[in-house]
Parts: sequence; C-alpha cells; structure tokens
Amino acid sequence: MTIRTRFAPSPTGYLHIGGARTALYSWLYARRHQGQFILRIEDTDLERSSPESVAAILEGMAFLNLDYDEGPFYQTQRFDRYRAVLQELVAQGHAYYCTCTKEDLEERRAAQIARKEKPRYDRRCRESHHPASGHAVIRFKNPLQGEVVVQDAVKGPVVFQNEELDDLIIARSDGTPTYNFTVVVDDMDMRITHVIRGDDHLNNTPRQINMLRALDATPPSYAHIPMILGEDGARLSKRHGAVSVMQYRDDGILPEALMNYLVRLGWAHGDQEIFSRAEMVSLFDIKDVHSAAAALNPKKLLWLNQHYIKTLPLAHIAERLKPFLEDRGAQIARGPELIDVVDAQRERAKTLVEMADLSLFFYQDDIVIKDPKSQATLATASKPALHALSEALRTLPDWTKEAIHTSIEATSAAHGLTFGKLAQPVRIAMTGTGISPPIDVTCQLLGRERCLDRLTKALAFEDPTP
Ligand code: GLU
Repeated sequence: MTIRTRFAPSPTGYLHIGGARTALYSWLYARRHQGQFILRIEDTDLERSSPESVAAILEGMAFLNLDYDEGPFYQTQRFDRYRAVLQELVAQGHAYYCTCTKEDLEERRAAQIARKEKPRYDRRCRESHHPASGHAVIRFKNPLQGEVVVQDAVKGPVVFQNEELDDLIIARSDGTPTYNFTVVVDDMDMRITHVIRGDDHLNNTPRQINMLRALDATPPSYAHIPMILGEDGARLSKRHGAVSVMQYRDDGILPEALMNYLVRLGWAHGDQEIFSRAEMVSLFDIKDVHSAAAALNPKKLLWLNQHYIKTLPLAHIAERLKPFLEDRGAQIARGPELIDVVDAQRERAKTLVEMADLSLFFYQDDIVIKDPKSQATLATASKPALHALSEALRTLPDWTKEAIHTSIEATSAAHGLTFGKLAQPVRIAMTGTGISPPIDVTCQLLGRERCLDRLTKALAFEDPTP
C-alpha cells in the first residue's frame, strides 16, 4: 500500500507554527515511507477564506521546502462532486432532508436543557422522508447504536458512543456542503491512508469514520497531535510573539533551523537535538510523537538557528542574507563578496537580521557613528597614530589581513599604545560601532579605498556631545 498523507489547511490566516508542524509531520511520514504528500486547501468557508491567506500558506510551505506530490486541490472547485455524493447518501438512506427551522431547534434545545438532558438534535426528520426543498438541510444518519473506536497513533484507542453523536448537518439549506463532509469526501477521493492533524479535530473523527463507512470507504489511520503551547504553558496567541512561519523568516530564522525546531516540538529521537532533513525523514515516526502538548522554546530556536548559521555552506547563508542587506539599503555589488562576510560574521550572529545589521557597514558609502561611547572613543583617539596608520596602509604592498595586522601592531607600538588602543578607534571608524569581526579581517574585507577614506574621516571626527 502506498502511504498517502495530506495537509489540509483552511486559508483563514497566515501559516502558523502549529499548522506548519502538522504539515511537516505529514510530509515526513509520507517521505519516510516513499509515499505521497497532498496539499488540499479547505476554502469552503467563503467568508473567512482569502486568496492572500492561500498565498501565505503556499509561501510558508515553500520556505520550509515542504514539497507536495499532488495539489493544491481547492475544495471550492469540487462542489459538483460534493453534491453528487450528497445525493448518493440520500438515495441510499444514509442521509435525509431536515426541515426543522432554527426556531423549532432552539425551542427544543431549551426544553432539553430544562429537562437536564444533553442538548442535541432529536432526529425528528430522520424517518420523515422529506423531499429536497429550498429550506431543508441534509443530515447524516449517524448509527444509533454501537461505538466508534479511533485507533489513534498518538493518543491510543479513543472510544466514542454512537448515541452521543448527533445527526450532523452535511449540507446547508443553500446546498453547500459542511466542513466535516467535505473532509470525508476528499479523504476518500484522494485515497488518504494516514490523516495527521491537530487534536482539536479528534471529536470530528468518529463522525467522519461513520460517514466513510456509509460510503463504503475504508477509513484512514489517524494521528491527532497535541497543540503547541506558549512558553508559559498557555494556549498560543499573538502575545507569544512570532507564530507565523513568515514572521520567523522575517526575523532572520533559517528554514533548516525552523524545521529542526518544529520536528522537536512534540517528537524526540533519544536526546538528539540536531536533525538534518535526511535524518528527519529516516528517523521520524508518528508513533513517537508525544501525546502531551509541547511548549515553545524561543531560546532553543535561536540556538538551532545559530548552529545552522555556523554550519551550513557559506554560499547558502549568503544567499539568504542578501535580501536582508538589500532591505537595509546595502549596495552589495560595491562591497566585499557576501560569502567572505558570512565567514567573518557567522560566529557572532544568531539570526540573519543580526548578521545583516552587523554587516551593513561593508556595503555603505558612509557610516554614522551613533552611540556616545563610540563617539567619545574616536574623538579622544591618538590622531598621530591614526594618521601614521593611514599612511602605512596606503603603501602596504599586499592588502592581506596579515599585513594589515602587522601595520596596526607596528603603528601602535611606535606610538606607545597597546594594540587595542589603536584597533578600537579604527574599528569604530570602519564600522560605526564597537563590534565587528577582528579588525584586520574587517579592514581587509572593506577594501583599501574605503578603509583609507574612513580613516580620513576619523581624523576629522569631532565629538558632537559638548
Ligand atoms: N482544515 C482543517 C484546519 O485547518 C484541517 C482539517 C483536517 O486536517 O482534517 O484546521
């Protein structure tokens, strides 16, 4: 049997971290078993769905490189099929038209509550054989007896009594199908073998299984994964900061890090923390997903991100860094090779945002010295030493970091200064701040022309603070 999984988001917002993890687990399970992964957009709620949100989901999937073998399928393009299956269920006596009005239902509901009964549809139209009509909904005839056992791969067996399940509305009076029904038709038509989804859907599962059985389809296996909690253990909300995949991207998180982070939110393989994509695919098993909810751990995400910044190929990081620099107005073509800058910076940046901020000075014509401490350091630096260094660098035969280092060393010694006493104002002159890669590397990457130009400006620098 070919394993077929799907990710079935409702496009009502961005791709959030919980959805992305569901997608990842479904994708991993399919890849692990050489199966197929299908993307289905559940857009039947016309009021809440939007094309922007579809685009955001596709963008998020692309960012994480979660490729799908089929789809995206859109439920709004499948209404004819749903209508046909509805008719089939009615014709076979598995569904019926219900003409109870909203007022009737509310009245009966109030009476049930008054009698201390659990409020639910009382199946009044179940055997009435109403014909189709403009105001009738279609309800599924849920079995009256017996139980449905969901053999959940994460939660174990979960038992539901049929008598507890209502006769669910599967089509509204305007003929449009409802959510639980479209999922059933799609999972059947798309030959889904394993449904992996959030555990907020667990209560829908017995109803969906009953409908699949009525349609003579074999229900898929199910795995309901617990939700993700905030760092504080509370339900995830905006207050917890970045929760959309695109926000993580914009915060300078690498997809490799986010993927590694997501896989570990609810799954473990011994005490291993770092997983390459290939390792995830070979090791992931849905049975090992934890049944308790996982909590976000932003520190760990940063730690993972730094790990990938330090270890992925330079060219790979450079390519991802580029848009962050461009957004900040960097003129990439006029500065050093990006891979050299990544090489110089990757020990000290936890995110691409940080790396871009720390590297912008390489790609600007003019730098601004903003912080008062740096301003004071530069204003009080030894001008004769800076001048001498400038002369030494101007005539340096080879513009190498070794030669630059020797020049700074010799110049500081000649002026009775420690290396740092000269290097620090030079660093500020080059970068505008007190933080940079080693000063020799910094100057070398900046290039002789810019380096001399910045030294000249440093010589004329006056502390703006009185
Ligand atoms: N469309 C549902 C959601 O976004 C998922 C349905 C399912 O996976 O069965 O929550």
